[in-house]
Amino acid sequence: MYDILITGGMIPDFTTKTFVKANVAVKDGKIEAVLPEDGFVEAARVIDASGKVVSPGFIDMHSHEEVFPDGSTEFDVSKYYLRQGITTGICGNCGIEFNPVSYVKKVYETNGGGYINYVPLAGYNSFRDEYGFGWYGDVPADVRAEIIEKLRAELEDGAWGFSFGLEYCPGISTEEMTDAVMALKEYDPLISIHFRADTDKCLDSVHEIADLSKVTGCRVELSHIGSLAAVGGNMRPSLDIMNEEMSANPRLGFDVYPYNAFCTEIGSAAFDMDWRAKWNCGYDIIMPLCEPYMGMRCDEALYNKILKEQPEANVVAFALDEADVRLAIADPNGFYGTDGGMFPGMGSHPRTAGSFPRILGKYVREEKLLPLIDALEKLTIRPAAFVGLPTKGDIRPGMDADITIFDPDTILDGATFLDTSLPNVGIDYVIVAGKVGCDHNELTGELGGELILRN
Ligand SMILES: [Zn+2]
Repeated sequence: MYDILITGGMIPDFTTKTFVKANVAVKDGKIEAVLPEDGFVEAARVIDASGKVVSPGFIDMHSHEEVFPDGSTEFDVSKYYLRQGITTGICGNCGIEFNPVSYVKKVYETNGGGYINYVPLAGYNSFRDEYGFGWYGDVPADVRAEIIEKLRAELEDGAWGFSFGLEYCPGISTEEMTDAVMALKEYDPLISIHFRADTDKCLDSVHEIADLSKVTGCRVELSHIGSLAAVGGNMRPSLDIMNEEMSANPRLGFDVYPYNAFCTEIGSAAFDMDWRAKWNCGYDIIMPLCEPYMGMRCDEALYNKILKEQPEANVVAFALDEADVRLAIADPNGFYGTDGGMFPGMGSHPRTAGSFPRILGKYVREEKLLPLIDALEKLTIRPAAFVGLPTKGDIRPGMDADITIFDPDTILDGATFLDTSLPNVGIDYVIVAGKVGCDHNELTGELGGELILRN
């Protein structure tokens, strides 16, 4: 007796680059059997997936985890990730780690699981910020050594690696970053990097990240290449550099989210330069996500008012060139990420809720940027291999039963810049470790997700 039998769906076969009609039998959180379409076994629940794609659950290469304010153990942003078909997310990116791994572990234990699987990274900036040297300051050797020991403690607790946010803290030199990675190389850490600077420094930033992987031999992920290279017309040369480097170095990767606007705090160092001259734009590219200005477009007065009153407020900046974003989405290599995050009372970018249905609906089906099978490969089996998750990313016996069932003819994002809560279309079921966590946009409360720790 199986737990679930999924019948009549189309299973992606990444070796032959085709879809195969088959039935999938699930038991005890694992895919137990993949049967021919006329093969049936007895199961407690049968899901008819005729006409639908039965995909490995999507892997989000770049997300921001739960904030858990005031010692809370309530999940929030994970619900948005699950609803868009994500079953595993790499979190702790851009140098920012909201809670130590030990705390997140407690949350998963308290809830008896999570909505999705989390792969945690420690945040270099978060530790560096504690010492008060500021975003531009140089940090002496003894403090650097202490930061490394704090990262080591997180790795010992199960973090998969750590992240840097160079743009947010320009004081982190290439040398400081390289020394930290080399000091912790024995852990084979997964390193993710939010670039140093865009426009005229874009290509240097790309090289800095590619070189880190080459010099240290570690896996290095260039985060959200759109917000780096889609401002100032640098996407084509950036992708060319990355593809050339990646062809010689499989331990290098990049991700992109499918929107032409980035989102960050209005008081962030990203806005410290003369950004209007740099990006050749006016104040009106800035849309606040905080009340009472939500959804308005800035002028100089409003921009300065929010900067003064609420420097931590999130704003959206429509600074990215759509054609450049499309180049990164269409690239045969690289991964996809949401760069999602939910910060209490501060509003959220629609990428938190709609990134992957948007890729599969708008960019794959409607604009035909790349074949569906290739997009799914970038969402599943390839990131699983890069991160080192051998039981994820494919539909075959013995794999974890992380499965996203969607309609390729209708899948589309719902969230907008004004309303992140609007539902996606065309995602029927999202299954994590054999538990149906999401059924036609409704969360069932079944928590199959786990905190995936090193070893
Ligand atoms: Zn970032």
